[in-house]
Amino acid sequence: MDDAHTLLKQVWGFDRFRPGQEEIVAAIVEGRDVLAIMPTGAGKSLCYQLPALMRPGLTVVVSPLIALMRDQVAALQANGVAAGALTSNTDPHEAEAIYQMIDAGTLKLLFMAPERLSVAGGLLRRAGISMLAIDEAHCVSQWGHDFRPDYLRIGELRDALRAEGAEVQITAFTATADEETRGEIASKLFSDAPQVFLGGFDRPNLFLAFEPKAQAKTQVTDFVLRHEGEAGIVYCSSRAKTEQFAEHLQKKGIEALAYHAGLDAETRQVRQDRFTREDGIVICATVAFGMGIDKPDVRFVVHADLPKSMEAYYQEVGRAGRDGLPADTLTLYGVDDIKLRRLQIDDSDAPDARRRADHQRLNALLSLAEAPRCRRQVLLAFFGEREHEPCGNCDLCKSPVETFDGTEDAQKALSA
Ligand code: ADP
Ligand code: MG
Repeated sequence: MDDAHTLLKQVWGFDRFRPGQEEIVAAIVEGRDVLAIMPTGAGKSLCYQLPALMRPGLTVVVSPLIALMRDQVAALQANGVAAGALTSNTDPHEAEAIYQMIDAGTLKLLFMAPERLSVAGGLLRRAGISMLAIDEAHCVSQWGHDFRPDYLRIGELRDALRAEGAEVQITAFTATADEETRGEIASKLFSDAPQVFLGGFDRPNLFLAFEPKAQAKTQVTDFVLRHEGEAGIVYCSSRAKTEQFAEHLQKKGIEALAYHAGLDAETRQVRQDRFTREDGIVICATVAFGMGIDKPDVRFVVHADLPKSMEAYYQEVGRAGRDGLPADTLTLYGVDDIKLRRLQIDDSDAPDARRRADHQRLNALLSLAEAPRCRRQVLLAFFGEREHEPCGNCDLCKSPVETFDGTEDAQKALSA
C-alpha cells in the first residue's frame, strides 16, 4: 500500500487516509468486489478513484447526479488525472476528446449517467473497462427514496461484459445502511457476495437529545437563546412554521431567517449565502435546506417537529459540527407528529413495499426518541455498528432516566 499513500499525497495532497478508506482501497486493489457503506462526507469518492489509478484499464463510475459528476471530474482533472464524463450535458467536443483518450488507452476514470449505460456496451468493451464503480448505490433500491430505474441496467451490463470475457470488478458505495436496502443492493449489483465494509457513522462531537413536545415555541426559543451568537438550523415540518419560528426568534433578538421551497430562487440564494458567510445566523427551514450546504461551523440543529425517518434524522443533525468541534442537537416529538408522519406515508403513492419500509424507518426513529439508554448506541446499532460503549454525550448518558428501584425502600420497610 506504499503506492496508495504516495498517490494520496501526490494526487490529492492528503497526508493520511480517513477512517475506513485504507481497508477499502486495499480490498479493491486486490481485485475484490466491494460494497462500502459510509456516511455522507466520509470520503467515499477517494475509495474508488485512488484504486482506479493503481490498476490497468478504465474505471467507469456510475453516478445519479450530473452536477456531482462534473464537480468530481473537474477536481480530478485539476489534480492531473485523465477523467471525463458522458452525460446528456456533454457537448460533442468533450465527447470527442473522451473517445480519443479511450482509443489511446489513457483515460482512467469515466463518469456516466445511468441512462447512458444501455447504449454504452460497445464503447466500454473498446475502452478496456476493468472496474465498474457505482456511487449512491442505494439508487438501485426500489424501496428507497432515490430509486433510479436505470440503475437496474447495471447488472445487465455487468453480465454482458463478463459473458464476453471481460474481467470487470464491481464496487458500490452508499451512505444508506438499513439492512433491507443493503440486501437489495447486494443482490441487484453483484453476482457473488461482495466484501462489505461498514463504518464511520459515529459523530462523537454531536450531543444528541430528544424532548417530548409541550410548548414547542418556548422549547425551541430557550434552546436557541442558550446558543446566542452561534449559527444553527431549526427544522420545521411546514413552510408556514418556518416563517412563524423565524418571526418569533427575531422578536427575541435572534438573526433568524426562514427558508423553504416556496420562496423564490433569489431569496433562497441570498439567505443561504448569509447563513454560510455571516456569523450567528439561525435558519428556520424545511428539509429543502441542507443539501449541498458547505458550512463546517454549524453549532446546532433543532427539530421543532419529528423528522420522517432515522436516516433523515441523522442526515439533518449531521449538518452540525462538521468541523469536529462540539455541536448541540435537540429533537422535539409529540403524538401529533407521529400521526402526521404515519399519515404522510399512508397517503403517498409509493408501492406497498416502500410504504412498509417507510413505516419501519419511522418506527426506528421513535424507538430512538423513547430509548431507555444511550441514544448513540441505539442509533449506531441501527446503522449496523453494534460495538459501541455508552457515549457520555447524549441526554440519557448525562442524566439517566429514573428507573424505579424498590430494593432500598423494601429494605427500609423490613428493618423498621
Ligand atoms: P462522501 O462521498 O462519502 O459523502 P466525499 O467523497 O464527497 O464524501 O468526500 C468528502 C470530503 O472529504 C471531500 O472534500 C474530500 O476531498 C475529503 N476527503 C476525502 N478523503 C480525505 C482524506 N483522506 N483526507 C482529507 N480529506 C479527505
Ligand atoms: Mg459521495
